[in-house]
Amino acid sequence: MKKRKIPLRQCIGCMSQKPKKELIRIVKSKDGEIKLDMTGKAHGRGAYICNDVECFKKMHKKKALNKAFQQEVNEEIYNQLQEELIKNE
Ligand SMILES: [Zn+2]
Repeated sequence: MKKRKIPLRQCIGCMSQKPKKELIRIVKSKDGEIKLDMTGKAHGRGAYICNDVECFKKMHKKKALNKAFQQEVNEEIYNQLQEELIKNE
């Protein structure tokens, strides 16, 4: 039997590679809405972050979402995501 490869994704905060299921997905939907994707299955372009407020702070500081989604991401959206993350901790 072949070993199954664990899919790794990079956290946009601390930039470390982690198994996908340990990360929270942030998704941009077709209509441009950016939100946490707790199911990991929402359609759209995704970015990943650890379930950790420290990683959030890092990625906020360097505005990593702007890069991930190639657009200006509103401060309000960062705040919303942070609140969601805190709830989920
Ligand atoms: Zn991280």
